[in-house]
Amino acid sequence: MAEAHTTSYYAATANQYAPFPRLAGEIDADVVVIGGGFTGVNSALELADRGFRVVLLEANRIGWGATGRNGGQITGSLSGDKAMAREFRRSLGAEAEDFVWNLRWRGHEIIRKRVSRFGIDCDLKPGHIQTACAPAHLPELRDMHLEAVRRGMGDEVEFVEQDRIGEIVASPIYLGGLLNRRNMHVHSLNLCLGEAQAAAGLGVRLFEDSRVLRIEEVPRPVVITAQGRVTADKVLLAGNAYHRLGKGQMRGALFPAALGIVATEPLSEDVARQINPQDLAVYDNRFVLDYHRLTADRRLIFGGGTNYSGRPSRDIAAELRPSIERTFPQLRGIGIEFGWSGLAGIIVNRIPHLGRVGPNIFYAEGYSGHGIATTHIVAEIMAEAISGTMREFDVFAGVRHMRLPLGTWAGQQAIALGMFYYRLKERFR
Ligand SMILES: Cc1cc2nc3c(=O)[nH]c(=O)nc-3n(C[C@H](O)[C@H](O)[C@H](O)COP(=O)(O)OP(=O)(O)OC[C@H]3O[C@@H](n4cnc5c(N)ncnc54)[C@H](O)[C@@H]3O)c2cc1C
Repeated sequence: MAEAHTTSYYAATANQYAPFPRLAGEIDADVVVIGGGFTGVNSALELADRGFRVVLLEANRIGWGATGRNGGQITGSLSGDKAMAREFRRSLGAEAEDFVWNLRWRGHEIIRKRVSRFGIDCDLKPGHIQTACAPAHLPELRDMHLEAVRRGMGDEVEFVEQDRIGEIVASPIYLGGLLNRRNMHVHSLNLCLGEAQAAAGLGVRLFEDSRVLRIEEVPRPVVITAQGRVTADKVLLAGNAYHRLGKGQMRGALFPAALGIVATEPLSEDVARQINPQDLAVYDNRFVLDYHRLTADRRLIFGGGTNYSGRPSRDIAAELRPSIERTFPQLRGIGIEFGWSGLAGIIVNRIPHLGRVGPNIFYAEGYSGHGIATTHIVAEIMAEAISGTMREFDVFAGVRHMRLPLGTWAGQQAIALGMFYYRLKERFR
């Protein structure tokens, strides 16, 4: 039985749509995509745009997973940017750094165009600042600023010194920041719902409440749900941290991390203007970071911390309230109306995990908490690969990923230990 969207701010303010049907009976397709989050929906859309007959199967509702639960920040960080530049040098040589730089902004362009082409109503707004919480964070942000200027983004970025940061974000904990007007924020669930409608308009057959139970591989793959079967030439696994269909080299590479996030009661216009007058998305520069932004109805959406058990916390609001009040003492006692959590797929080196298991079964997963822009890029890369243009797919698929042959539970404990080390190291920077 399908689960409804989690009780989040996003679900409470989602654009209404007629639910897609449950798969029943046997159908045939060129490609079957499993998972109705950003990866699956956008891959389906890209494939339909290229003329493929596509079926998308979602176990619950469109955007039910991390896609409908996240912080809504669209940033030029792909999480593992530095690791990518290092790894990609093996396949791309000296071109690797430029490739990664261009990749970092490609998702923004795809999202902007998609929203405008299909008229998607999703509160998409420009503006983001990455803040320093410790003096040691400043040099890294200055370097990022210099690189953006050197690469021609000078009119879109600004380094904000400590004496001005309070005018941009009225918090006592920030010592400066890198303001970026190309980055954006969005009502993530409404973006995905709009993209799903667009995909349907392009001929994709979408099914909700249609969990894939297993895949049979010969002679053409057959994807099996409780009441139906889809036979297709190609399969794309896009269930990210929520599916159990992975096999072979997929095993031991992705670890689900439960991230908690809240939305406050709506702030008055005065308070909203005082704490964040430019309506920016904000995240800080720590390894395990806090992030926040205002919604269209002036709630503060605030997320941070993480636990690597893969299980949600018992009381997310109580856990995040101290961080909210430390960031904005003027919000002490603010009502928290929504608290929810979602699973992000963490990869040890933070490079998205793309590949195939068998000749006809592709997978794309693992955006390490930075997936909104990245999923849109990856969807394009997967659609190209399934159409036969393998170059960018091969760059990702050629990455050497660390796999912890420990099973998910033990692997997660190892990751948690690693994160504890980084947090400790950060405390002494
Ligand atoms: C709390 C939180 C905050 C985040 N904040 C940000 C942010 O501010 N900015 C950013 O860039 N990224 C953020 N992320 C990451 C981002 O949300 C994800 O990287 C992205 O949404 C992943 O999309 P996806 O489609 O790959 O996976 P998901 O959205 O998780 O979708 C997977 C889907 O597959 C379905 N599924 C699973 N198994 C099956 C099956 N057997 N059959 C059929 N369907 C199945 C699930 O029901 C689910 O709907 C955040 C993540 C979380 C959890």
